[in-house]
Amino acid sequence: MDVKLLEATPDPERVICSAARNDYLSEFVGDVPFEEAMEGIDGDTIEEKRETLIGHLLDHGHFGPFEHPQATFAIKGVSRSCMAQITRHRHASFDIQSMRYVSFDDVDPADVEEGAMVVTPPSAVDPDWIGRNQSSGSVDEETVAERKRVFRETVRDSVESYQRLLDLGMPPEDARFVLPIGTEVNIVMSVNARMLMHIADMRAAADSQWEIREMTESILDLAADWCPTTFEHYEKHLKGRKNRLAP
Ligand SMILES: Cc1cc2nc3c(=O)[nH]c(=O)nc-3n(C[C@H](O)[C@H](O)[C@H](O)COP(=O)(O)OP(=O)(O)OC[C@H]3O[C@@H](n4cnc5c(N)ncnc54)[C@H](O)[C@@H]3O)c2cc1C
Repeated sequence: MDVKLLEATPDPERVICSAARNDYLSEFVGDVPFEEAMEGIDGDTIEEKRETLIGHLLDHGHFGPFEHPQATFAIKGVSRSCMAQITRHRHASFDIQSMRYVSFDDVDPADVEEGAMVVTPPSAVDPDWIGRNQSSGSVDEETVAERKRVFRETVRDSVESYQRLLDLGMPPEDARFVLPIGTEVNIVMSVNARMLMHIADMRAAADSQWEIREMTESILDLAADWCPTTFEHYEKHLKGRKNRLAP
């Protein structure tokens, strides 16, 4: 998996502060210099004032201003299972790599057996991995070796069958039906800062699956570079709370 920030609102926290100050100014925020709009907020510098206001908004559940800045992330090599989970979030926008126009006809099934093209879950290779819905605990090396063999052989066989169906003239959009749900896909996702916090409430939580959790944590790391005061505050004070979109 790889996650990159493609594009994002420049100076997102200035936008958040301007939007929030609009609610309490008698003047038109479009005509007032930013420094003047921030008068009355605690802090000696404009940076301190921004920090005060953003912390106050987040602590009081005033999330509306966080809908204005938006970021676009490119996500590489997650499973179609992870894709099905993240695309349930209706206020994010997605582009998904097509399996109609992109076919896996040149992938060597031997490479698939070695881990290419299909995401390998840690439980297939790590004897100590305990999944949330797993009835047993750790397993011995022999058991995990058998898990790995069954997993790898199955995904290799399904890719071989897929390529055979392509050779038999089946269109990729139909031949793909035999591919595993772990097949890798690339995604572009655009999301505003409020929605990203909502997604993180649900998908960085302990009851989420390891893959979407890892993806969400990578997105949060990038978000902390992009919109630092907000996502540092989120990480420190809000993350792990019971998911709530509004007070
Ligand atoms: C651990 C975990 C397990 C899950 N298991 C399953 C499962 O087994 N089966 C399954 O189907 N899903 C499952 N989901 C998905 C989950 O049910 C949600 O569909 C998904 O997380 C989207 O989140 P959301 O409902 O907050 O909606 P989002 O689309 O993220 O929307 C954000 C918020 O906007 C509001 N909203 C959006 N659309 C509407 C609407 N039409 N009407 C009213 N309010 C709206 C709601 O307040 C919502 O919380 C699981 C999620 C998690 C985190």
